Amino acid sequence: MNSPDAKPSKNLKPETVRVLLPLPLGDGYDYLIPFDLSIPQGSFVMVPLGRKEGVIGIVWGEGSGNVDPRKLKSITSVLDLAPLDETTRRFVDWVSSYTLTPAGLILKMVLGGQLRPLKEKDKVPDTLPDPTFATPTLSPEQASAAAALNTAVKDSAFSVTLLDGVTGSGKTEVYSEALAQCFKDDRQALLLLPEIAMTAALFSRLEARFGLPPTLWHSGLTEKQRRLNWHAIKQGKARFILGARSALFLPYANLGLIVVDEEHEGAYKQEEGVIYHGRDMAVVRARLGSIPVVLASATPSLETLHNVQKGKYRHLILSRRFGEATMPAIRIVDLRHEKMPTQSFISDPLLQALQGALENGQQSMLFLNRRGYAPLTLCRACGLRLQCPSCTSWMIEHKRTNRLHCHQCGYSMTIPKACPTCGAEDKFAACGPGIERIAEEIAARLPDARTAIMASDTIADAKAAQAMVTQMDDHAIDLLIGTQIMAKGYHFPRLTVVGVIDADLGLAGGDPRAAERTFQLLQQVAGRSGRAEDAGTVYLQTTNPDHPVMQALIKGERDAFMQAEMRERKNYHLPPFGRLASLTITGADKGQVIDTARQIAAAAPQDKGMRILGPAPAPFALLRGKHRYRLMVQAGKGVSLSSAIGAWLAPLSLPRTIKVQVDIDPYSFL
Ligand code: ADP
Ligand code: ZN
Repeated sequence: MNSPDAKPSKNLKPETVRVLLPLPLGDGYDYLIPFDLSIPQGSFVMVPLGRKEGVIGIVWGEGSGNVDPRKLKSITSVLDLAPLDETTRRFVDWVSSYTLTPAGLILKMVLGGQLRPLKEKDKVPDTLPDPTFATPTLSPEQASAAAALNTAVKDSAFSVTLLDGVTGSGKTEVYSEALAQCFKDDRQALLLLPEIAMTAALFSRLEARFGLPPTLWHSGLTEKQRRLNWHAIKQGKARFILGARSALFLPYANLGLIVVDEEHEGAYKQEEGVIYHGRDMAVVRARLGSIPVVLASATPSLETLHNVQKGKYRHLILSRRFGEATMPAIRIVDLRHEKMPTQSFISDPLLQALQGALENGQQSMLFLNRRGYAPLTLCRACGLRLQCPSCTSWMIEHKRTNRLHCHQCGYSMTIPKACPTCGAEDKFAACGPGIERIAEEIAARLPDARTAIMASDTIADAKAAQAMVTQMDDHAIDLLIGTQIMAKGYHFPRLTVVGVIDADLGLAGGDPRAAERTFQLLQQVAGRSGRAEDAGTVYLQTTNPDHPVMQALIKGERDAFMQAEMRERKNYHLPPFGRLASLTITGADKGQVIDTARQIAAAAPQDKGMRILGPAPAPFALLRGKHRYRLMVQAGKGVSLSSAIGAWLAPLSLPRTIKVQVDIDPYSFL
C-alpha cells in the first residue's frame, strides 16, 4: 500500500535504506527494501526491531552499508501517509547535531510522541480561519507595523522581525494581521507561547478574531486530540496552530509563518530530555523552511536586541498603549525606611493603594515569585532548617495541603512535632513569605477583598487558567496573588494596582542573566496594570532602590539598561558575545560522579578555543537523590561548540551509571 500522494522522488539504490526510529538509538538502522516497492525519502515505514515486529520509522537516506546485507531485515510495509517533508527532516538533523541529542529523540517529537494512525471513525475537519472575520481598526503605528509583517509573509522568504511593543500596545492584534495574511495565502501559521496556561487566555481572543478556534498542540491534550490534531497538521487541514514549544517539531504540510510571543521568556528553554531553546529553534526552522518568523515582546531578550543591532533582525516598534490607556506609574517603597510589624510583608503605601482600588471597584494584583506559605521552616531552639532528604533544597510549608513540600522532587511530609536534631517540641517556625502567607495577611488586613491565588500548583492546566481568567473578567475576584505565571500576557481591563512584594528576589545568585530577567519580569508584571481607561500604579517593595534594575523601571529606561547589560556581557565574553555550554554529571555515587567529572575535564582538548571551568558541585548538588557536578565551557563566538564538545566526549568510556547532560547555550545555572 504505497501512499497515493507520495511524490515519486529519486528512488534509493542499492536496495538498502537507513530508517530513523523515534528512539534514542544512533542515526538509525539499515533495512532492505522489499523487491516490489519503491520507497521515496521521508516515507513512513513499518520495520521489525529486535523482538518487536512493527516499529514506525522514517526512511532517512541511503543505507550506511556498514552491515552485511545478508544480516539485514526487511521493511515490512509503507504507511499510507505522505512522506515527511525535507524541511522537517533537515530540521531534525540540525537540532540533533546542535543539541548533541540522538536524531531519533527529535523524530519522536515530530511524530507527536508516539505516532497513532487515524481510526475509522476519526474525522479530520478542514478548518479554515477567516482572515477577515473580525478585523480591528488599527492605529497608524499598528498599521505600519502590520504592513511590514504582511510584506514579510507575502515575500515567503526567511526573515526575522522583532515586534517590540510596550505592554498593551496591541502586539497580538498586529501579529494577527500577519497570521491573517498567511491564511489568505493558503498557508499554515504557528503561534508559539511559552506556557500552556497562556494558551487559554489567548484561545478565545484568537477565536473571536478568526471565527474559528486555533488547533492546539501542547502536553495537556488528550490522546484523541493529539491524534486528530497531528493528522490535521500533517495533511495541511489545520491552518492555525497555537502551541507550546514542542509544536515546532510537527510535520507541517505548508507552514508559512511562525510567531513566537513573549520571545524573552525563559520558559522557552526546555531543560530536560532534548535540551533546546524554543525561540532559537523557531528561527532555525524558519531559515530551513525559507519562511518569516516574528518575535514579539515588550521586553526583548538581550540576545534578540543584539541581533537587531547587528542588522540581522528587523525591528518594528509600538511605542504606546492602544487607545486611551497610558503606561502605569512606578512607585518605589523603600523597605529600609518602612516601619512594618514583624510577620507583615505589605507596606502601608501598598495597602492603602489596594484599599483604594477595592473601594473604586478596581482589581489589583500582588506578585511574589514564591509558592507556598513560607520558604523556610526553622527550629527556633537549635536553628535546624528542614531540608529535603533527596535534594539540596529547603522544605516549603504549604497551607493548602498542610504539609512541607520539596519544590524540586515533589517529596512531602507533615511538619514534625519534635525537632529531629535537638528534640525540642513545637519549635518549628515559618520564615519569610510565600504567596499563601501574603493571602493570609490580606485576609486579616483587607477582609472584604475577594482574593485568589495563582501559581503553578493552583493553576495546573489550561482549563484552570481559563477559569481564573473568566473569574477576573467577571469581577468575581478583587485581588489576585500570584507568582510569575500571572505576569505574562494577560489583559485584565479593571486591573489598576500592582504590588511587587519583593522586587529584589531574582537578583541574587550567579546567573549572568539575573538582572536582565528581573527587569523583564518586573516590567511584565507592571504591564498588567492600567491597560484600559483607568490608569495603573505599580508599587515595588525593595531594599535596593538604587539598583540599576529598579532605576531603569522607574525611569522607563529599558534601552539604556539593556545597553549597560550588553557592555557587561561583552566585558566578560558572555553570550551573545561569547559562547557557553554546561556539562552536568550526575549519578547516585558521589565519588564516581566526581571521578567522572575529573576524567571528562582532563580529556578536554587544549586546541579548540574552549576554556573549561570546574568541575564543581552544582548549586543543586543533590537532586532527586542524584549527586551533580558541573563543568562550564566558555568559548569565543566563532567556536563551533557542539561539534567540539561532541568530539571531546565521543571517545570517552564512562561508567553506565553516570549521566552526562550537555546544555548548549544554558539558561539555568542550577
Ligand atoms: P500587547 O500584546 O501588546 O500587550 P494586546 O494585543 O493585548 O497588547 O492589546 C491590549 C488591548 O488593546 C487588548 O484588549 C486589545 O484587544 C486592545 N487593542 C489593541 N489594539 C487594538 C485595535 N487596533 N482595535 C481594538 N482593540 C485593540
Ligand atoms: Zn526533594
